[in-house]
Amino acid sequence: MILIKKAATLHNLLKHHKETGKIIGFVPTMGALHQGHLSLIKKAKEETDVVVCSIFVNPTQFNDLKDFTNYPSTLPEDILKLEQDPCDILFLPAIEEIYPVGTNTSKHYELGKIETLWEGHYRPGHFQGVCQVVDKLLQTTQPHKIFLGQKDFQQSIVIRKLIELSGIPVEPVICPTYREESGLAMSSRNMRLSIEQKERAASIFKMMQNVKNNLTTQNPESLAEYGRQFLLDHGFKKVDYVSIVNATNLSPVKHWNGTSPLAVLVAAFMGEIRLIDNLIINAGT
Ligand code: AMP
Repeated sequence: MILIKKAATLHNLLKHHKETGKIIGFVPTMGALHQGHLSLIKKAKEETDVVVCSIFVNPTQFNDLKDFTNYPSTLPEDILKLEQDPCDILFLPAIEEIYPVGTNTSKHYELGKIETLWEGHYRPGHFQGVCQVVDKLLQTTQPHKIFLGQKDFQQSIVIRKLIELSGIPVEPVICPTYREESGLAMSSRNMRLSIEQKERAASIFKMMQNVKNNLTTQNPESLAEYGRQFLLDHGFKKVDYVSIVNATNLSPVKHWNGTSPLAVLVAAFMGEIRLIDNLIINAGT
């Protein structure tokens, strides 16, 4: 694996690879790598010739300064993991490489309604920040495919929209959420949970499964309310939302027709740590 810090160097190297017919796969991350990230890299290696992983903790997507400063960083371990995995290039930019004129840019992405729902509502400005960094990373890498986790389902929809807006010819590949045996979705933020909190946090998955199992007999709104209460009863301090939504546009569903795909979206605090998760429900699954 080679490590590159300069955007121009990475751009030129990948341009050369593309000219020689290589297919480029790109996996953007904020580091503190876990099996979920590595599953994306594995998938990228299966589908492309040159796998680029970036590690950059993007300040503009944090609406809470404390969350940004406390974001876990495990760079030496990350590099070891990437060395063992089929990653070809690690891009490790300094902030000036991503934001050469500073982070106070006036660039605005017209994301539409998706920007104000759920994560957008609870984290104002978050998706603009995501678009700023992903736009820059896509301009730099110009990959054939970008590999994203379903774990951040709304983010994956936003990035699809960004791709549409920017016109960059890249195919998004959405990879399944990698979970602990308990059902807890792997997340860098889990490093900040105690063992006991991790056990309790697994109740998100149990709750989403219960919702799924009861959808044919109960209406989505009462199931969402049940879900919220279930999390509070299982040690969550605060629940931002448990929502049952249309899996395409994320608008709330009041009555399910039994056919169109749904998503259960969850954001809740275990202690000080805000966790998000989701489950996609297709008819007959
Ligand atoms: P992050 O480092 O949290 O910004 O995540 C980088 C990428 O990894 C995003 O596309 C995430 O959706 C994805 N990801 C994070 N956690 C998981 C997981 N448990 N399973 C699969 N993908 C994940």
